[in-house]
Amino acid sequence: MSEQEELLADLLAHGRFLESLSSVGVPRPAAAPAHPGAPRAEDPAAALAAVRETLGDCHRCKLWSGRRTIVFGQGDPQAELMFVGEAPGADEDEQGLAFVGRAGQLLTDIIEKGLKMKRSQVWIGNILKCRPPQNRNPEPDEVLSCQPFLERQIDAIRPRVIVGLGKFGGQWLLKTAEPISRIRGRVGEYRGVKVVPTWHPAYLLRNPAAKKDVWEDMKTVLRLLGRPVPGARD
Ligand code: URA
Repeated sequence: MSEQEELLADLLAHGRFLESLSSVGVPRPAAAPAHPGAPRAEDPAAALAAVRETLGDCHRCKLWSGRRTIVFGQGDPQAELMFVGEAPGADEDEQGLAFVGRAGQLLTDIIEKGLKMKRSQVWIGNILKCRPPQNRNPEPDEVLSCQPFLERQIDAIRPRVIVGLGKFGGQWLLKTAEPISRIRGRVGEYRGVKVVPTWHPAYLLRNPAAKKDVWEDMKTVLRLLGRPVPGARD
């Protein structure tokens, strides 16, 4: 590696480290510079397949030893809408698919009954691709190891809107340590893509009253996508 390449690699690693701190609740020293929105990969499916290949039988962090399967995420590679959660749970680890447990069923309702879209039309993934033991929170080194894959997935798909699910999804996308209760209800941006943070479906299972907030957030999603919003006057 030349000196210049080494310097660039250091800078990139440093940037990713700062991002991982904010995604686990540690404020970063300065706001991330805005990236101009890059165009979607010419062949998003092929770009995603390349990301999966690079991920391989990942041993980059300690989570590999407790996982059954890597949960890469799934959906339409050309999706206009993407959902980003935290990490696989037990059901996801077993089936190798994101959001297939109880929280996943609620997410399906949000997509199908709320947004009137099919699950197969959107992309669903997580910050971490492996299940943390006992579903504990992601740790900074795990986020740091895994986030380049989510970054590349988003770059491959270039959706129009990304919904950040819960504290981890919302904070990671917006590079902030602000609580989800404060960031939801506002539209942010991740590298030129609109971000709508909302409550995590697992939280909704415990606090059904918060569903009304999610419905407001999904109306924002529909508006951003230029789709009909139920109850809205033209
Ligand atoms: N919770 C998440 O954040 N992701 C999943 O895939 C399942 C539950």
